[in-house]
Amino acid sequence: MRTGSNLPAVGEYNQTLVLDLIRRSPEGLSRVELSARTGLSAQTLSNVTRRLAEEGLIAEAGKVISGPGKPRTLLKLEPRSRFAVGVHLDPVVDTVVVVDMAGHVVAHEEIAPQGEVPAAQLVAAVATAVDDILARAGIDRTLVLGVGVAAPGPFDPRGGRLLDPPLLPAWHHVNVRDDLGAATGLPVIVEKDVTAAMVGELWFDRSDALSDAMFLYYGAGVGLGVAIAGAPVRGRTGNAGGIAHIVVDPLGPVCGCGSRGCLGVSIEPRTLFAEAGYDPATGGDSRREVDRLVRDAAAGRPETVAVLRRAGERIARALVVANNLLDVDEVILGGPVWERLAGILGDAVSARVAADPASTATRAIEVRRSLVGADVAAVGAACLMLDGAFAARPARMMIAL
Ligand SMILES: [Zn+2]
Repeated sequence: MRTGSNLPAVGEYNQTLVLDLIRRSPEGLSRVELSARTGLSAQTLSNVTRRLAEEGLIAEAGKVISGPGKPRTLLKLEPRSRFAVGVHLDPVVDTVVVVDMAGHVVAHEEIAPQGEVPAAQLVAAVATAVDDILARAGIDRTLVLGVGVAAPGPFDPRGGRLLDPPLLPAWHHVNVRDDLGAATGLPVIVEKDVTAAMVGELWFDRSDALSDAMFLYYGAGVGLGVAIAGAPVRGRTGNAGGIAHIVVDPLGPVCGCGSRGCLGVSIEPRTLFAEAGYDPATGGDSRREVDRLVRDAAAGRPETVAVLRRAGERIARALVVANNLLDVDEVILGGPVWERLAGILGDAVSARVAADPASTATRAIEVRRSLVGADVAAVGAACLMLDGAFAARPARMMIAL
């Protein structure tokens, strides 16, 4: 349990700590309960909750009678007191969401990627999409904390600038943080999409029990988001989580790196489509290819059933190898391609993870689906903005002191 400090210098930390506890308790918490959970004195707690109420972040919401003494006033989050925008830059479709303080998605838009146009035009299109979605949702701009952008890496070590993501050629060397910040007038955070997905999952886990976990993100590309002790792992340069070259099938397709059967190339929708004997789809929208695979497998087409079964084994091997390294509590699967495959492959992947002879796990590995859904990277990027402003992390207190 995280506890507070009664020293005046850590007032801001206490504020984030109390707000985080209230956020995770939709039914509300009384000051007595908050005091017990944080170790803060009644006086400090009273000051903290007053400041939060003054900023409109929490409100009193009725009284409860519990045992003798006077009824306790419940404090609840004001979800619409602040908002954050999340943007996911993706080769197939760019997603823009607005989330409120509770992490609920209050608006969602998809914009078709612009193709090969100058960087300034790309940034302007995203800025327009941000303006439009806020206007349509009727959100006061002064309540918007900022824009979180999720994108496939790699990033410049100083952050904010995309280097050369292979699936996003038009965005090469664009400084998303500075350029989009200038175009929108809002603070911008840029995060690798797999890390953003992990953040989204942490934010939605109200129990605060999600501690050591990994998130296999399966979209146009594949990557691993990692959380240790409840915090996302970014690595030194924000580029952690590259698992595309883990060999998962020694008889699999040849990868650009020279190996055979790397995870990325082995579960790429285009690869599965070709392995199942279809002609390449036109238009490059992998979602249509995946939908066809799912449809035909459900109808019992033997080649498609075999290809998806093998894809499940490949995914399971990657999860096992990663878990052998990290030894986590929870394994989460998500991303737009996985959301389409989960119904038909979820159980097979779980069973294969449990049976894989490469596993060194000493207890059952629980594999589950993302709580957030297909937009997890965009939602997670928005949650980064909320997180940056409000989540209590002891590490931040150490910096502040
Ligand atoms: Zn490779």
